[in-house]
Amino acid sequence: MPQSADKVKDHISLFKEPEYLELFASKKAQFECRPTDEAVAAQAEYTKTWEYREKNFAREIATINPAKACQPLGAVFVAAGFEGTLPYVHGSQGCVAYFRSHLARHFKEAVPIVADSMTEDAAVFGGLANIVEGLQNAYTLYKPKMIVVSTTCMAEVIGDDLSAFIATAKEKESVPADFPVPFAHTPSFVGSHTTGYDNQMKGILSYFWDREAQLTAAAGDKINIIPGFDGYAVANNREIKRYLDTMGVDYTFIGDVSDVYDTPSDGEYRMYDGGTTLDETRAAINAKATIGLQEFCSLKTLEYVATKGQQTAAFNYPMGIGATDAFLMKVSELTGKAIPASIEKERGRLVDAITDSQAWLHGKKFAVFGDPDFTLAMSAFLMEMGAEPTHVLATNGAKEWEAKAKALLASSPFGASGQVWAGKDLWHLRSLLFTEPTDFIIGSSYGKYLEKDTGIPLIRLTFPIFDRHHHHRFPTFGYQGALRVLVEILDRVFEVADESDISFDLTR
Ligand code: SF4
Repeated sequence: MPQSADKVKDHISLFKEPEYLELFASKKAQFECRPTDEAVAAQAEYTKTWEYREKNFAREIATINPAKACQPLGAVFVAAGFEGTLPYVHGSQGCVAYFRSHLARHFKEAVPIVADSMTEDAAVFGGLANIVEGLQNAYTLYKPKMIVVSTTCMAEVIGDDLSAFIATAKEKESVPADFPVPFAHTPSFVGSHTTGYDNQMKGILSYFWDREAQLTAAAGDKINIIPGFDGYAVANNREIKRYLDTMGVDYTFIGDVSDVYDTPSDGEYRMYDGGTTLDETRAAINAKATIGLQEFCSLKTLEYVATKGQQTAAFNYPMGIGATDAFLMKVSELTGKAIPASIEKERGRLVDAITDSQAWLHGKKFAVFGDPDFTLAMSAFLMEMGAEPTHVLATNGAKEWEAKAKALLASSPFGASGQVWAGKDLWHLRSLLFTEPTDFIIGSSYGKYLEKDTGIPLIRLTFPIFDRHHHHRFPTFGYQGALRVLVEILDRVFEVADESDISFDLTR
Protein backbone atom coordinates (compact mmCIF):
# COMPACT_ATOMS: atom_id res chain seq x y z
CA MET A 1 0.00 0.00 0.00
CA PRO A 2 1.40 3.42 -0.88
CA GLN A 3 0.05 4.88 2.34
CA SER A 4 -0.90 3.77 5.85
CA ALA A 5 -2.29 5.36 9.00
CA ASP A 6 1.30 6.12 10.01
CA LYS A 7 2.23 7.56 6.64
CA VAL A 8 -0.66 9.52 5.12
CA LYS A 9 0.27 10.98 1.76
CA ASP A 10 -1.12 14.11 0.15
CA HIS A 11 -3.09 13.32 -3.03
CA ILE A 12 -0.48 15.05 -5.18
CA SER A 13 2.23 12.54 -4.23
CA LEU A 14 -0.17 9.62 -3.59
CA PHE A 15 -1.40 9.45 -7.18
CA LYS A 16 2.15 9.32 -8.45
CA GLU A 17 2.83 6.03 -6.61
CA PRO A 18 3.39 2.99 -8.89
CA GLU A 19 0.10 1.33 -7.83
CA TYR A 20 -1.91 4.31 -9.00
CA LEU A 21 0.10 4.84 -12.17
CA GLU A 22 -0.56 1.21 -13.07
CA LEU A 23 -4.26 1.63 -12.29
CA PHE A 24 -4.55 4.69 -14.52
CA ALA A 25 -2.69 2.98 -17.38
CA SER A 26 -4.88 -0.10 -17.13
CA LYS A 27 -8.09 1.99 -17.08
CA LYS A 28 -6.92 3.90 -20.14
CA ALA A 29 -5.98 0.74 -22.02
CA GLN A 30 -9.01 -1.35 -21.14
CA PHE A 31 -11.96 0.99 -20.78
CA GLU A 32 -11.43 4.40 -22.38
CA CYS A 33 -11.47 3.26 -26.03
CA ARG A 34 -9.22 6.21 -26.83
CA PRO A 35 -7.71 6.97 -30.19
CA THR A 36 -3.92 6.72 -30.17
CA ASP A 37 -1.90 9.39 -28.38
CA GLU A 38 -0.59 10.51 -31.79
CA ALA A 39 -4.13 10.97 -33.13
CA VAL A 40 -5.15 12.96 -30.04
CA ALA A 41 -2.03 15.14 -30.35
CA ALA A 42 -2.68 15.75 -34.05
CA GLN A 43 -6.27 16.78 -33.35
CA ALA A 44 -5.15 19.03 -30.51
CA GLU A 45 -2.71 20.73 -32.89
CA TYR A 46 -5.47 21.21 -35.45
CA THR A 47 -7.61 23.07 -32.87
CA LYS A 48 -4.87 25.71 -32.74
CA THR A 49 -5.23 26.66 -36.42
CA TRP A 50 -7.07 29.47 -38.20
CA GLU A 51 -9.04 26.83 -40.11
CA TYR A 52 -10.38 25.38 -36.87
CA ARG A 53 -11.07 28.89 -35.54
CA GLU A 54 -13.33 29.53 -38.51
CA LYS A 55 -15.23 26.30 -37.91
CA ASN A 56 -15.43 27.14 -34.19
CA PHE A 57 -16.86 30.60 -34.89
CA ALA A 58 -19.39 29.11 -37.33
CA ARG A 59 -20.85 27.21 -34.36
CA GLU A 60 -24.46 28.31 -33.83
CA ILE A 61 -26.19 25.90 -31.50
CA ALA A 62 -23.74 24.59 -28.92
CA THR A 63 -22.14 26.73 -26.23
CA ILE A 64 -18.91 25.45 -24.68
CA ASN A 65 -17.73 26.87 -21.35
CA PRO A 66 -19.82 30.05 -21.27
CA ALA A 67 -18.42 32.79 -19.04
CA LYS A 68 -21.73 33.34 -17.31
CA ALA A 69 -24.15 31.70 -14.90
CA CYS A 70 -27.94 31.48 -15.05
CA GLN A 71 -30.56 34.00 -13.90
CA PRO A 72 -31.52 32.57 -10.48
CA LEU A 73 -27.89 32.73 -9.31
CA GLY A 74 -28.04 36.51 -9.64
CA ALA A 75 -31.49 36.55 -8.04
CA VAL A 76 -30.42 34.69 -4.89
CA PHE A 77 -27.33 36.92 -4.64
CA VAL A 78 -29.53 40.04 -4.54
CA ALA A 79 -31.92 38.56 -2.00
CA ALA A 80 -29.07 37.80 0.42
CA GLY A 81 -28.33 41.53 0.57
CA PHE A 82 -31.43 42.36 2.62
CA GLU A 83 -31.89 42.17 6.38
CA GLY A 84 -33.03 38.76 7.65
CA THR A 85 -33.86 37.60 4.14
CA LEU A 86 -34.06 34.01 2.95
CA PRO A 87 -33.60 33.46 -0.80
CA TYR A 88 -36.16 30.90 -1.97
CA VAL A 89 -36.06 29.18 -5.35
CA HIS A 90 -39.18 27.70 -6.87
CA GLY A 91 -37.87 24.82 -8.94
CA SER A 92 -35.54 21.87 -8.90
CA GLN A 93 -33.16 21.36 -6.03
CA GLY A 94 -30.18 20.36 -8.18
CA CYS A 95 -30.11 23.89 -9.60
CA VAL A 96 -30.13 25.36 -6.11
CA ALA A 97 -27.29 23.10 -4.99
CA TYR A 98 -25.34 24.62 -7.88
CA PHE A 99 -26.14 28.21 -6.78
CA ARG A 100 -25.16 27.43 -3.19
CA SER A 101 -21.92 25.72 -4.15
CA HIS A 102 -21.00 28.40 -6.70
CA LEU A 103 -21.37 31.19 -4.13
CA ALA A 104 -19.91 29.17 -1.23
CA ARG A 105 -16.83 28.14 -3.21
CA HIS A 106 -16.16 31.75 -4.12
CA PHE A 107 -16.94 33.51 -0.83
CA LYS A 108 -15.86 30.60 1.42
CA GLU A 109 -19.05 31.10 3.45
CA ALA A 110 -22.17 29.08 4.15
CA VAL A 111 -24.81 30.34 1.69
CA PRO A 112 -28.37 29.66 2.86
CA ILE A 113 -30.86 29.31 -0.01
CA VAL A 114 -33.96 27.12 0.12
CA ALA A 115 -35.57 25.26 -2.77
CA ASP A 116 -39.08 23.85 -2.96
CA SER A 117 -37.67 20.88 -4.85
CA MET A 118 -40.09 20.39 -7.71
CA THR A 119 -39.99 16.87 -9.13
CA GLU A 120 -41.89 14.91 -11.80
CA ASP A 121 -45.37 15.38 -10.32
CA ALA A 122 -44.91 19.15 -10.08
CA ALA A 123 -43.70 19.18 -13.69
CA VAL A 124 -47.01 17.63 -14.72
CA PHE A 125 -49.46 19.28 -12.31
CA GLY A 126 -47.66 22.57 -11.58
CA GLY A 127 -45.74 23.64 -8.49
CA LEU A 128 -48.48 25.26 -6.42
CA ALA A 129 -48.36 22.60 -3.71
CA ASN A 130 -44.56 23.02 -3.51
CA ILE A 131 -44.88 26.77 -2.88
CA VAL A 132 -47.65 26.38 -0.31
CA GLU A 133 -45.67 23.83 1.68
CA GLY A 134 -42.26 25.32 0.96
CA LEU A 135 -43.10 28.83 2.15
CA GLN A 136 -44.63 27.44 5.32
CA ASN A 137 -41.58 25.29 6.08
CA ALA A 138 -39.10 28.07 5.26
CA TYR A 139 -40.98 30.60 7.39
CA THR A 140 -41.35 28.23 10.35
CA LEU A 141 -37.88 26.68 10.32
CA TYR A 142 -35.64 29.60 9.43
CA LYS A 143 -37.62 32.53 10.87
CA PRO A 144 -36.70 35.11 8.23
CA LYS A 145 -38.00 38.70 8.06
CA MET A 146 -38.53 38.34 4.30
CA ILE A 147 -38.54 35.51 1.77
CA VAL A 148 -37.56 36.41 -1.81
CA VAL A 149 -38.69 33.98 -4.51
CA SER A 150 -37.08 33.30 -7.89
CA THR A 151 -37.52 30.44 -10.37
CA THR A 152 -35.50 27.82 -12.22
CA CYS A 153 -36.01 26.68 -15.81
CA MET A 154 -38.38 23.92 -14.76
CA ALA A 155 -40.95 26.27 -13.19
CA GLU A 156 -40.67 28.61 -16.16
CA VAL A 157 -41.07 25.91 -18.80
CA ILE A 158 -44.36 24.78 -17.27
CA GLY A 159 -45.43 28.40 -16.76
CA ASP A 160 -46.02 28.59 -13.00
CA ASP A 161 -47.47 31.98 -12.00
CA LEU A 162 -45.58 33.19 -8.92
CA SER A 163 -47.93 36.07 -8.15
CA ALA A 164 -51.00 33.81 -8.05
CA PHE A 165 -49.15 31.00 -6.23
CA ILE A 166 -47.82 33.28 -3.49
CA ALA A 167 -51.28 34.85 -3.05
CA THR A 168 -52.76 31.36 -2.68
CA ALA A 169 -50.04 30.38 -0.20
CA LYS A 170 -50.92 33.44 1.88
CA GLU A 171 -54.62 32.55 1.74
CA LYS A 172 -53.68 29.11 3.02
CA GLU A 173 -51.69 30.79 5.82
CA SER A 174 -48.28 29.45 4.80
CA VAL A 175 -46.98 32.86 5.89
CA PRO A 176 -48.88 35.80 7.46
CA ALA A 177 -50.76 37.97 4.98
CA ASP A 178 -48.51 40.98 5.62
CA PHE A 179 -45.23 38.99 5.50
CA PRO A 180 -43.07 40.30 2.62
CA VAL A 181 -42.60 37.79 -0.21
CA PRO A 182 -41.23 39.69 -3.22
CA PHE A 183 -40.59 37.60 -6.29
CA ALA A 184 -39.22 37.62 -9.82
CA HIS A 185 -39.53 35.21 -12.70
CA THR A 186 -35.96 34.32 -13.64
CA PRO A 187 -36.05 32.04 -16.70
CA SER A 188 -32.53 30.77 -17.24
CA PHE A 189 -32.89 30.29 -20.96
CA VAL A 190 -32.86 34.10 -21.30
CA GLY A 191 -30.00 36.34 -20.17
CA SER A 192 -27.64 35.43 -17.36
CA HIS A 193 -27.00 35.98 -13.64
CA THR A 194 -26.78 39.74 -14.32
CA THR A 195 -30.31 39.70 -15.80
CA GLY A 196 -31.47 37.70 -12.78
CA TYR A 197 -29.91 40.29 -10.49
CA ASP A 198 -31.76 43.06 -12.30
CA ASN A 199 -35.11 41.23 -12.33
CA GLN A 200 -34.93 40.35 -8.66
CA MET A 201 -33.82 43.80 -7.54
CA LYS A 202 -36.73 45.32 -9.45
CA GLY A 203 -39.03 42.70 -7.92
CA ILE A 204 -37.97 43.61 -4.38
CA LEU A 205 -38.17 47.38 -4.88
CA SER A 206 -41.52 47.22 -6.64
CA TYR A 207 -42.89 44.98 -3.89
CA PHE A 208 -42.22 47.68 -1.30
CA TRP A 209 -42.64 50.74 -3.44
CA ASP A 210 -45.82 49.75 -5.30
CA ARG A 211 -47.65 47.81 -2.61
CA GLU A 212 -46.56 49.21 0.70
CA ALA A 213 -44.71 52.47 0.52
CA GLN A 214 -45.95 55.93 -0.20
CA LEU A 215 -43.85 58.97 -0.87
CA THR A 216 -43.60 60.29 2.66
CA ALA A 217 -41.34 63.27 2.26
CA ALA A 218 -40.09 65.65 -0.37
CA ALA A 219 -36.91 64.29 -1.91
CA GLY A 220 -33.83 65.51 -0.05
CA ASP A 221 -30.27 64.92 -1.07
CA LYS A 222 -30.24 61.25 -0.10
CA ILE A 223 -29.14 58.84 -2.80
CA ASN A 224 -29.51 55.10 -3.32
CA ILE A 225 -26.68 52.86 -4.49
CA ILE A 226 -27.39 49.61 -6.35
CA PRO A 227 -24.08 47.72 -6.54
CA GLY A 228 -24.86 44.98 -9.10
CA PHE A 229 -23.58 41.39 -9.16
CA ASP A 230 -20.00 41.46 -7.96
CA GLY A 231 -17.69 38.72 -6.72
CA TYR A 232 -15.75 41.38 -4.82
CA ALA A 233 -18.91 42.79 -3.20
CA VAL A 234 -17.68 42.07 0.33
CA ALA A 235 -14.83 44.56 0.01
CA ASN A 236 -16.16 46.72 -2.83
CA ASN A 237 -19.40 47.62 -1.03
CA ARG A 238 -17.37 48.64 2.02
CA GLU A 239 -15.03 50.68 -0.15
CA ILE A 240 -17.89 52.59 -1.81
CA LYS A 241 -19.46 53.21 1.63
CA ARG A 242 -16.09 54.50 2.87
CA TYR A 243 -16.05 57.04 0.03
CA LEU A 244 -19.63 58.12 0.72
CA ASP A 245 -19.00 58.39 4.47
CA THR A 246 -15.83 60.39 3.86
CA MET A 247 -17.80 62.78 1.66
CA GLY A 248 -20.59 63.05 4.23
CA VAL A 249 -23.21 61.73 1.81
CA ASP A 250 -26.59 60.52 3.09
CA TYR A 251 -27.24 57.24 1.27
CA THR A 252 -28.97 53.87 1.24
CA PHE A 253 -26.94 50.94 -0.05
CA ILE A 254 -29.56 48.62 -1.54
CA GLY A 255 -28.81 44.89 -1.57
CA ASP A 256 -25.65 44.88 0.54
CA VAL A 257 -24.15 41.39 0.85
CA SER A 258 -20.90 42.55 2.45
CA ASP A 259 -21.73 41.16 5.90
CA VAL A 260 -23.67 38.02 5.06
CA TYR A 261 -20.88 36.78 2.76
CA ASP A 262 -18.19 37.66 5.31
CA THR A 263 -19.39 36.58 8.75
CA PRO A 264 -16.85 36.34 11.57
CA SER A 265 -15.88 33.09 13.33
CA ASP A 266 -16.74 33.96 16.92
CA GLY A 267 -18.80 30.97 17.98
CA GLU A 268 -22.13 32.29 16.70
CA TYR A 269 -23.59 31.05 13.41
CA ARG A 270 -25.30 33.88 11.55
CA MET A 271 -27.76 32.69 8.97
CA TYR A 272 -28.56 36.33 8.27
CA ASP A 273 -26.10 39.14 8.86
CA GLY A 274 -26.25 42.78 7.89
CA GLY A 275 -28.01 43.73 4.68
CA THR A 276 -30.26 46.64 3.79
CA THR A 277 -33.05 46.86 6.37
CA LEU A 278 -36.62 46.50 5.18
CA ASP A 279 -37.40 49.98 6.50
CA GLU A 280 -34.48 51.45 4.58
CA THR A 281 -35.73 49.66 1.47
CA ARG A 282 -39.22 51.10 1.92
CA ALA A 283 -37.86 54.61 2.51
CA ALA A 284 -35.50 54.44 -0.47
CA ILE A 285 -38.40 55.53 -2.66
CA ASN A 286 -37.92 59.02 -1.21
CA ALA A 287 -34.34 59.40 -2.44
CA LYS A 288 -33.33 62.12 -4.82
CA ALA A 289 -31.49 59.72 -7.11
CA THR A 290 -30.44 56.10 -7.56
CA ILE A 291 -27.02 55.15 -8.88
CA GLY A 292 -26.35 51.75 -10.44
CA LEU A 293 -22.68 50.84 -10.12
CA GLN A 294 -23.11 48.31 -12.93
CA GLU A 295 -25.30 49.42 -15.81
CA PHE A 296 -25.87 45.95 -17.24
CA CYS A 297 -27.05 44.64 -13.84
CA SER A 298 -29.64 47.36 -13.37
CA LEU A 299 -31.19 48.26 -16.75
CA LYS A 300 -34.79 47.40 -15.81
CA THR A 301 -34.40 48.47 -12.19
CA LEU A 302 -33.21 51.97 -13.06
CA GLU A 303 -35.98 52.30 -15.63
CA TYR A 304 -38.45 51.42 -12.88
CA VAL A 305 -36.81 53.78 -10.37
CA ALA A 306 -37.13 56.63 -12.88
CA THR A 307 -40.92 56.13 -12.93
CA LYS A 308 -40.88 57.14 -9.24
CA GLY A 309 -39.52 60.56 -10.14
CA GLN A 310 -35.91 59.90 -9.14
CA GLN A 311 -32.86 60.83 -11.14
CA THR A 312 -30.81 57.82 -12.19
CA ALA A 313 -27.22 57.27 -13.23
CA ALA A 314 -25.39 54.11 -14.26
CA PHE A 315 -21.70 53.28 -14.29
CA ASN A 316 -19.71 50.34 -15.55
CA TYR A 317 -17.91 49.02 -12.45
CA PRO A 318 -16.09 52.03 -10.93
CA MET A 319 -12.53 50.71 -11.06
CA GLY A 320 -9.53 52.67 -12.29
CA ILE A 321 -8.94 56.40 -12.53
CA GLY A 322 -11.51 57.66 -15.04
CA ALA A 323 -14.30 55.38 -13.83
CA THR A 324 -13.78 56.35 -10.18
CA ASP A 325 -13.51 60.04 -11.10
CA ALA A 326 -16.82 59.85 -12.96
CA PHE A 327 -18.56 58.08 -10.06
CA LEU A 328 -17.32 60.50 -7.40
CA MET A 329 -18.10 63.57 -9.51
CA LYS A 330 -21.64 62.34 -10.10
CA VAL A 331 -22.16 61.74 -6.39
CA SER A 332 -20.82 65.24 -5.71
CA GLU A 333 -23.10 66.76 -8.35
CA LEU A 334 -26.19 64.97 -7.01
CA THR A 335 -25.59 65.65 -3.33
CA GLY A 336 -23.70 68.95 -3.37
CA LYS A 337 -20.95 67.35 -1.26
CA ALA A 338 -17.38 68.14 -2.23
CA ILE A 339 -14.80 65.44 -2.90
CA PRO A 340 -12.41 65.83 0.05
CA ALA A 341 -8.67 66.29 -0.24
CA SER A 342 -8.05 62.88 1.37
CA ILE A 343 -9.72 61.15 -1.60
CA GLU A 344 -7.85 63.35 -4.07
CA LYS A 345 -4.63 62.21 -2.39
CA GLU A 346 -5.61 58.55 -2.91
CA ARG A 347 -6.08 59.35 -6.58
CA GLY A 348 -2.67 60.96 -6.76
CA ARG A 349 -1.04 57.97 -5.12
CA LEU A 350 -2.63 55.65 -7.69
CA VAL A 351 -1.37 57.81 -10.55
CA ASP A 352 2.08 57.75 -8.96
CA ALA A 353 2.03 53.96 -8.66
CA ILE A 354 0.96 53.54 -12.29
CA THR A 355 3.72 55.89 -13.38
CA ASP A 356 6.30 53.90 -11.37
CA SER A 357 5.34 50.68 -13.16
CA GLN A 358 4.31 51.96 -16.55
CA ALA A 359 7.38 50.62 -18.35
CA TRP A 360 6.37 47.07 -17.43
CA LEU A 361 2.84 47.40 -18.72
CA HIS A 362 3.21 49.56 -21.80
CA GLY A 363 2.20 47.63 -24.89
CA LYS A 364 1.45 44.36 -23.07
CA LYS A 365 -1.51 42.59 -24.66
CA PHE A 366 -4.38 41.25 -22.58
CA ALA A 367 -7.42 39.07 -23.21
CA VAL A 368 -10.22 40.07 -20.83
CA PHE A 369 -13.35 37.99 -20.22
CA GLY A 370 -16.23 38.27 -17.76
CA ASP A 371 -19.43 40.20 -17.21
CA PRO A 372 -20.23 43.22 -19.40
CA ASP A 373 -19.54 45.89 -16.77
CA PHE A 374 -16.35 44.25 -15.51
CA THR A 375 -14.88 43.85 -18.98
CA LEU A 376 -15.57 47.51 -19.79
CA ALA A 377 -13.92 48.68 -16.56
CA MET A 378 -10.97 46.33 -16.88
CA SER A 379 -10.33 47.34 -20.49
CA ALA A 380 -10.53 51.03 -19.60
CA PHE A 381 -8.10 50.58 -16.71
CA LEU A 382 -5.66 48.59 -18.85
CA MET A 383 -5.59 51.43 -21.38
CA GLU A 384 -5.05 53.95 -18.56
CA MET A 385 -1.94 51.93 -17.68
CA GLY A 386 -0.71 51.82 -21.28
CA ALA A 387 -1.62 48.16 -21.80
CA GLU A 388 -3.67 46.85 -24.71
CA PRO A 389 -6.97 44.98 -24.30
CA THR A 390 -6.64 42.79 -27.41
CA HIS A 391 -9.63 40.48 -26.93
CA VAL A 392 -12.61 41.67 -24.85
CA LEU A 393 -15.18 38.90 -24.43
CA ALA A 394 -18.51 38.78 -22.59
CA THR A 395 -20.66 35.70 -23.12
CA ASN A 396 -23.56 37.66 -21.61
CA GLY A 397 -22.73 40.82 -23.55
CA ALA A 398 -25.38 41.90 -26.06
CA LYS A 399 -25.41 44.52 -28.82
CA GLU A 400 -25.42 47.54 -26.47
CA TRP A 401 -22.39 46.20 -24.62
CA GLU A 402 -20.64 45.45 -27.89
CA ALA A 403 -21.19 49.01 -29.15
CA LYS A 404 -20.00 50.46 -25.86
CA ALA A 405 -16.89 48.27 -25.75
CA LYS A 406 -15.99 49.17 -29.35
CA ALA A 407 -16.41 52.89 -28.60
CA LEU A 408 -14.24 52.50 -25.51
CA LEU A 409 -11.42 50.82 -27.47
CA ALA A 410 -11.69 53.46 -30.18
CA SER A 411 -11.21 56.20 -27.58
CA SER A 412 -7.55 55.33 -26.95
CA PRO A 413 -4.54 54.43 -29.09
CA PHE A 414 -4.06 51.45 -26.74
CA GLY A 415 -7.40 50.06 -27.94
CA ALA A 416 -6.53 50.30 -31.64
CA SER A 417 -5.82 46.56 -32.03
CA GLY A 418 -8.62 45.50 -29.67
CA GLN A 419 -11.45 43.22 -30.77
CA VAL A 420 -14.81 42.82 -29.02
CA TRP A 421 -16.53 39.45 -28.78
CA ALA A 422 -20.17 39.60 -27.67
CA GLY A 423 -21.98 36.35 -26.90
CA LYS A 424 -18.85 34.20 -27.41
CA ASP A 425 -17.70 31.54 -24.96
CA LEU A 426 -14.36 30.37 -23.58
CA TRP A 427 -13.91 27.78 -26.33
CA HIS A 428 -14.08 30.66 -28.82
CA LEU A 429 -11.53 32.50 -26.68
CA ARG A 430 -9.26 29.45 -26.85
CA SER A 431 -9.23 29.70 -30.65
CA LEU A 432 -8.55 33.43 -30.43
CA LEU A 433 -5.63 32.90 -28.08
CA PHE A 434 -4.02 30.31 -30.34
CA THR A 435 -4.43 32.36 -33.52
CA GLU A 436 -3.95 35.89 -32.12
CA PRO A 437 -2.16 35.37 -28.80
CA THR A 438 -1.92 37.85 -25.95
CA ASP A 439 0.65 38.20 -23.17
CA PHE A 440 -1.89 37.63 -20.37
CA ILE A 441 -5.49 36.60 -19.73
CA ILE A 442 -7.69 38.38 -17.16
CA GLY A 443 -10.82 36.60 -16.02
CA SER A 444 -12.19 34.06 -13.53
CA SER A 445 -10.86 30.70 -12.33
CA TYR A 446 -12.34 29.10 -15.46
CA GLY A 447 -9.52 30.78 -17.36
CA LYS A 448 -7.07 28.26 -15.88
CA TYR A 449 -8.03 25.77 -18.59
CA LEU A 450 -7.08 28.38 -21.20
CA GLU A 451 -3.83 28.99 -19.35
CA LYS A 452 -3.07 25.27 -19.30
CA ASP A 453 -3.83 24.82 -23.01
CA THR A 454 -2.25 27.97 -24.40
CA GLY A 455 0.51 28.68 -21.87
CA ILE A 456 -0.71 32.28 -21.53
CA PRO A 457 -0.65 33.33 -17.84
CA LEU A 458 -4.00 33.96 -16.15
CA ILE A 459 -4.73 36.77 -13.70
CA ARG A 460 -7.85 36.07 -11.64
CA LEU A 461 -9.82 39.27 -11.15
CA THR A 462 -13.50 38.43 -11.45
CA PHE A 463 -16.18 36.02 -10.26
CA PRO A 464 -15.95 33.12 -9.74
CA ILE A 465 -12.59 32.56 -8.10
CA PHE A 466 -12.72 29.02 -6.72
CA ASP A 467 -9.07 28.02 -6.72
CA ARG A 468 -7.58 30.96 -4.81
CA HIS A 469 -8.66 32.18 -1.40
CA HIS A 470 -9.80 35.55 -0.02
CA HIS A 471 -9.36 37.73 -3.08
CA HIS A 472 -12.90 39.03 -2.54
CA ARG A 473 -11.93 40.44 0.86
CA PHE A 474 -9.89 43.21 -0.76
CA PRO A 475 -11.50 45.84 -3.00
CA THR A 476 -11.11 46.41 -6.71
CA PHE A 477 -13.38 49.48 -6.78
CA GLY A 478 -12.10 53.03 -6.50
CA TYR A 479 -8.52 54.26 -6.43
CA GLN A 480 -7.43 51.87 -3.65
CA GLY A 481 -9.03 48.96 -5.49
CA ALA A 482 -7.30 49.91 -8.72
CA LEU A 483 -4.01 49.95 -6.85
CA ARG A 484 -4.62 46.39 -5.73
CA VAL A 485 -5.55 45.38 -9.32
CA LEU A 486 -2.35 47.02 -10.55
CA VAL A 487 -0.30 45.01 -8.04
CA GLU A 488 -1.96 41.72 -9.03
CA ILE A 489 -1.22 42.35 -12.68
CA LEU A 490 2.35 43.44 -11.99
CA ASP A 491 3.05 40.41 -9.78
CA ARG A 492 2.14 38.13 -12.68
CA VAL A 493 4.18 40.20 -15.13
CA PHE A 494 7.23 39.93 -12.86
CA GLU A 495 6.72 36.20 -12.27
CA VAL A 496 6.78 35.66 -16.02
CA ALA A 497 9.87 37.84 -16.34
CA ASP A 498 11.59 35.78 -13.63
CA GLU A 499 10.86 32.57 -15.53
CA SER A 500 13.09 33.79 -18.33
CA ASP A 501 16.79 33.14 -17.63
CA ILE A 502 17.78 36.33 -19.40
CA SER A 503 15.43 38.50 -17.35
CA PHE A 504 15.78 36.86 -13.93
CA ASP A 505 16.57 39.83 -11.75
CA LEU A 506 16.45 41.05 -8.17
CA THR A 507 15.36 44.59 -8.86
CA ARG A 508 12.47 45.60 -11.07
S1 SF4 B 1 -29.85 26.82 -16.38
FE1 SF4 B 1 -31.87 26.12 -15.61
S2 SF4 B 1 -31.56 23.93 -15.22
FE2 SF4 B 1 -29.53 24.86 -15.33
S3 SF4 B 1 -29.01 25.40 -13.21
FE3 SF4 B 1 -29.92 27.22 -14.15
S4 SF4 B 1 -32.08 27.08 -13.58
FE4 SF4 B 1 -31.21 25.04 -13.29
